[in-house]
Amino acid sequence: MNPPAFNQTPPPRAQGEGNGPGAAAGRAGFVDLHLHTLFSDGTFTPEELANRGARAGLVAMALTDHDTVEGCARMAQACQTLGMEFVSGTELTAQFEGNEVHLLGYFLQVDHPHLLSEMKKFQTVRQDRIREMAARLNKVGVPLRAESVFELANCHSPGRPHVGRALVLEGLCGSMEEAFEKYLKKGRPAWVPKYKISATDAIELIHAANGLAVLAHPALNHNDQLIPRLAEQGLDGLECFHTRHNPGMPERYMQMAHRLKLAVTGGSDCHGYSKGKPLIGGVKLAAVYLEKLKEVHQLRGRRAPAPGVQSA
Ligand code: AMP
Ligand code: ZN
Ligand code: FE
Ligand code: FE
Repeated sequence: MNPPAFNQTPPPRAQGEGNGPGAAAGRAGFVDLHLHTLFSDGTFTPEELANRGARAGLVAMALTDHDTVEGCARMAQACQTLGMEFVSGTELTAQFEGNEVHLLGYFLQVDHPHLLSEMKKFQTVRQDRIREMAARLNKVGVPLRAESVFELANCHSPGRPHVGRALVLEGLCGSMEEAFEKYLKKGRPAWVPKYKISATDAIELIHAANGLAVLAHPALNHNDQLIPRLAEQGLDGLECFHTRHNPGMPERYMQMAHRLKLAVTGGSDCHGYSKGKPLIGGVKLAAVYLEKLKEVHQLRGRRAPAPGVQSA
């Protein structure tokens, strides 16, 4: 099977409605459980994102910024004002058996001290990485300062898209595509590998913060054999619906989720205008899956309260 096209944007559609494991009669409406704001590499504020979600007719949204939960309080407030349910979350970059995997954490206790101290470490590494990328750009004659990237990013979790945007803004590249093609993608002069927590530790960290761990966009890993082994590590769910999943993939991953007793999730992975046009509204997950996810969360809470975790 061909890999999904980069930034493929399917037309707005309703997905996961009335079929697949457990999609019996239940709560009506649609949700988006994978979203980014300018607290990481998205371009919307939490309020703008919540407004767009409401306009797209969503009944619930989760915020999953990279390595941070800083936007969650504002997003929760914005969703409440608009009458939508909110789920706190994050997206951690992890490694598992030599592969990069992205793990979504849901229902996180956002003031959990260990979660916050670990995220602070990830953020420091991200900031050091930006300095290293700027140094490498300077070496090949591109005069970008790390400070310009930090000013543009204005967040604790800067990443390559911020470097790309800074290069475009300063007229050093004509477009984001050019920035990635010439400098930022793997093997190019300014590419710096990203620190990755082990997937086992990431799952443990998410559980310690009272959350559920879900494998993001599995099709992008091109290695489905990882999924059962991640399930053995305590994975709770599989993101079956994602903007870059081709038709047919949701069904395949839902069957896999059913076999492995994993919850089914989905989301657009909207980054605002950071990667082209906003994707919110393009992937809509039937709200019944959020209800099932909440059941799993409740069961996990009853089954294995993590040591030292206070109930929220
Ligand atoms: P980082 O996590 O800092 O390595 O940045 C990875 C982000 O860069 C991901 O969200 C990618 O989608 C994004 N990215 C990768 N290639 C490109 C590209 N050619 N144009 C725009 N964004 C890209
Ligand atoms: Zn991102
Ligand atoms: Fe991701
Ligand atoms: Fe994401």
